[in-house]
Amino acid sequence: MRSAFPKAELHCHIEGAANPALVQRLATRYRVDLDGLLDRRGGYAWHDFASFLDAYGRVSSVFRTRDDFRALALDHFTSLAAAGAIYGEIFIAPDIAAEYGVAIDDYVAGLDDGIAEAEAATGIVGRMIVTGIRHLGPEPVRALAGWAAANPHPRITGFGLAGDESQHHAGDFAEAFRIAREAGLGLTAHAGELEGPESVRAALDHFAVARIGHGVRAIEDRALVHRLVEEGVVLELCPSSNVALGLYPDLAAHPFRRLMDAGVRVTVNSDDPPFFHTSLGHEYEVVSDVQTLGQSALGRITRTAIEAAFVDPVTRGELLGRLPAA
Ligand SMILES: [Zn+2]
Repeated sequence: MRSAFPKAELHCHIEGAANPALVQRLATRYRVDLDGLLDRRGGYAWHDFASFLDAYGRVSSVFRTRDDFRALALDHFTSLAAAGAIYGEIFIAPDIAAEYGVAIDDYVAGLDDGIAEAEAATGIVGRMIVTGIRHLGPEPVRALAGWAAANPHPRITGFGLAGDESQHHAGDFAEAFRIAREAGLGLTAHAGELEGPESVRAALDHFAVARIGHGVRAIEDRALVHRLVEEGVVLELCPSSNVALGLYPDLAAHPFRRLMDAGVRVTVNSDDPPFFHTSLGHEYEVVSDVQTLGQSALGRITRTAIEAAFVDPVTRGELLGRLPAA
């Protein structure tokens, strides 16, 4: 999709977006062995969910200082802007950074520095969604929500839940989402990706989220699709990610268009781009070429993303003003 076409992204994990060239540079500095991590297609090598998590951990391990995270966010938002994005949100996971010895204050400050620098240089607007990891269990997720509530930050505007959605009952995380909601954060949760429609329903019932990360398997349940339409829930769809993880045999089989045609509010996203050999620009191309959606539908997708963005009303109005008239 040509770079002049305005785009926006709501679903991208910042370490999962790390440019392999940057990762190599930091690995050299810290003498980290990357043997077997990089593949011939310019991305990261993995073959199943366990090796995906392992590769993700190896990439995360090279980011250690505030300045490393500044470089990570700067690179990500600069390349998003070059692809035509006017807005981007990133999932940030302090619990993963902590596994590599990074203090939460350095993590957030470094990412914030990088976003500010990219905003000043390109005009892109960026926000962060502090994200709990479901398979670590309810207590760390609740603690993270408590941290976010106690440490308001102008660029942390959302709270999310990622990780293995088969672990724990959704109700166990309800308290974390209650804390985040009362702190005024926008809410999203991964659901209906590796698990089925019941997982999406549980997220809606227990978390009262405005958006669902993926949620793509709602298509298997007509009543749930109807509920998503009725309640105006926005799906953060990531077609290449779903194909790479084996949900669908190919991009043509992805239900992006079927969900959109059913009236569900959908957005298009890259998730963990170098892990899936994709980019936001490429995902717009997939939706255009493989799912055969025209320019007006693509424009509607960007508009939906801005309408569902976790931003204040003034920023939303400013971003909507940058889009061509609907
Ligand atoms: Zn994701």
